[in-house]
Amino acid sequence: MFGFRLEGKVAIITGAASGIGEAAAKLFVENGAFVVVADIQEELGLKVVASIAGPDIDRAIYKKCDVTVEKQVEETVAFAIEKYGTLDIMYSNAGILGPIDSILDMDMEEGFDRTMAINLRGPALCIKHAARAMVKRQVRGSIICTASTSSILGGGSPIAYNTSKHGLVGLVRSAASELGKHGIRVNCVSPYVVATPLAISGLSAMGINKASPSEIELLASSAANLKGVALKAKDIAEAALFLASNESSVYVSGHNLVVDGGFTVVHNSTTMLMETQIK
Ligand code: NAD
Repeated sequence: MFGFRLEGKVAIITGAASGIGEAAAKLFVENGAFVVVADIQEELGLKVVASIAGPDIDRAIYKKCDVTVEKQVEETVAFAIEKYGTLDIMYSNAGILGPIDSILDMDMEEGFDRTMAINLRGPALCIKHAARAMVKRQVRGSIICTASTSSILGGGSPIAYNTSKHGLVGLVRSAASELGKHGIRVNCVSPYVVATPLAISGLSAMGINKASPSEIELLASSAANLKGVALKAKDIAEAALFLASNESSVYVSGHNLVVDGGFTVVHNSTTMLMETQIK
């Protein structure tokens, strides 16, 4: 049974043709929202729309949007308003892992600049244009970004990716500070490893080819703090749903909702040492 926690709300979700964004698009529609599936992957985006809209085909619509191109982000916001009449939620989720290289031989254009353009400049554009529309219409909206546990830890992911996600938390906090006076909340959600195409590409760059989602979950679980459960895209979508919905509407802003089973608050090597002592 659906909860309708977003009844009648209008949302844009970037990177919604796959992984976490796809799961969020499905969950938001199930909860009564109208969703613009914004992504560069047109064929997949249209498939997602077809799979989630069901008989009520108007509930979701695909819009081609490259978050590195300001005009396309602006047009996507205008498209949502033209189609559904307003904009209540911007979920800036699109992201890439980028190349796995060392700072010693980092490719500054294809590696660093491109990762920043998608993972940090993209969300800045999404926040800018969503907030402009919300302020203009006096909508007390919710803006959410997908950061990562890489926004907290040094290492454990490519350096440009890690830097972009640290920057994203700064962007979210600064935007929350500025937009509070308009009643607009800005938060981010920070997942631990989820077996999506992004994670699969990361493993193949490390020489682990064609890893299946269950193999990725096994690998992630072996390093996880919380045992006996695998983190799914739907779990991150649930966290985003909380931040989008009225349940968080009184006072949750500028927050980084970390969904990592405690991974980032535990120093694993010390924990392992302790466990050998207390057995
Ligand atoms: P994914 O590869 O399944 O989805 C990413 C989507 O972003 C794709 O549909 C892709 O087409 C889209 N995209 C890429 N570049 C784009 C651009 N320029 N403009 C518009 N769309 C673009 O990966 P995912 O794991 O679902 O990633 C979603 C977010 O979650 C990312 O921001 C990622 O950094 C973050 N994240 C993922 C994990 C994980 O383990 N999967 C962990 C932490 C954070």
